[in-house]
This record gives sequence, C-alpha cells and structure tokens, in this order.
Amino acid sequence: MAILDCITVNLNLDKVRKKLHMKPDSNLNQVRSLVDTVQQLIEPKAIYNVSYIDEKSEDSVVVGGLPLKSRVLRKNLDRVERIFPYVVTLGSKLGEKQNACSDLLENYYLDCIGNLALTSARKQLKKHLQSKFALKKLSFMAPGSLSDWPIEEQGPLFRLLGDVEASIGVRLTRNLLMLPAKSISGFYFPTEVSFYSCQLCPRKKCDSRKAKYDEALAGEYGVQNKK
Ligand code: SF4
Repeated sequence: MAILDCITVNLNLDKVRKKLHMKPDSNLNQVRSLVDTVQQLIEPKAIYNVSYIDEKSEDSVVVGGLPLKSRVLRKNLDRVERIFPYVVTLGSKLGEKQNACSDLLENYYLDCIGNLALTSARKQLKKHLQSKFALKKLSFMAPGSLSDWPIEEQGPLFRLLGDVEASIGVRLTRNLLMLPAKSISGFYFPTEVSFYSCQLCPRKKCDSRKAKYDEALAGEYGVQNKK
C-alpha cells in the first residue's frame, strides 16, 4: 500500500469557466473567489496498491484473492497481470462548506470546481504510477460507472487497499457511497489503447463524459444497453 499526501492541485480559471458553461466575456469575480476558496479547503490525498491477478474466468477475475465480476473489466484485463486499485479524496472541508451553503448556484459552482480538483488529483496519481512503474499508457475503471461493474464492487476494491479510513480518511457507507463525498475510487491498468467507460455508456446528458459513446465497441464488450 502506498499513500500520496503531497498532491498539489492548481485549478485553471479558464477550465473552470468552460466547465460552468460561462462565456469568455462573463464576469468571473464570483467564480475566481470560489476557486480560491476551494483551493484553500481541499486536502488531496490518494492511496493505491499493486494487486496481482490470480485467476481469469469468462466474466470475472480474482485479484489479490478477491473476485471482481464484470465482463468489461475481464476483457480489459485480458493481457494484464497487475492492476493499481486506488482511492483519491479531497478531504472533508469542501463538503462541510457546501453543507453550510444555502445559495444553490454557489453550491453548484463549488461542486463543479471540486469535481475538477478531484479529477486533477486522480490524474496526478496516474502520472505518479506511470513514472514509478515505467508505464506508458494507463486507463481506469470505477465501480458503479457501468451497470456491468456495479457499485457493490466497491467492497472488494476497498478491501484491496486495507484500512482506507485510517490511511486517508475515506470510509464506505452501508449504501457503498464514499465519505467524504469528494472522493473517487477505481483501478488503473496498463493498456495499449486508451479505454474510457464512457465509450460503453449511452447516457445522453453527462457533463463528465470523457469519450463518445461507441455502440460497436459496446457490442464487442458484450454490453447490452437499453435504448
Ligand atoms: S458518460 Fe457520464 S455517466 Fe457515463 S460513464 Fe461517462 S462519466 Fe459516467
């Protein structure tokens, strides 16, 4: 297990503006001030592990003695022998600020800016893994992002990381949600071709989409999507 507690997130105001769908000539005073607020509140940290694949079956793998069931995951790990499970968090202070904020628009802005900060922290974990393990390309999967790999898989993923709460302060609720809320989990895996779960996800409106839906690819993965 390794912990990264020196992650630096520098939010770019222009990226924030685009995320908030604001025009370039908009008055950004409020957003600028909220970016500063978020920067001061976040405490980005990550925990990760190097976990080896023990077994592969048709639609599941056993990693570190724990079964992970998903056709997509199994296909992605076809030529892979190890994965890097992780949890990344911004800590609890941003969430506390949001809970105390009664202005809906301001709360929405804080949420979006926090999500950008979380993504930035995850990308820094990726860079760390690439450099430490001399890996050219990494893709990731997150439990709950596809019905094929549901949120219930948070349990085994967390178990691959030991005591996540003691290490970086993130715990799973009974409903398998993470607290603090501004936390993400998943695993990175080495790949030759970039993979995004979004390629298999037909959801029409999603601000977080990272790649276009690819119906043919979904067919290759055996993912049945309702239209
Ligand atoms: S399109 Fe949105 S909901 Fe679908 S996998 Fe990507 S981020 Fe998740």
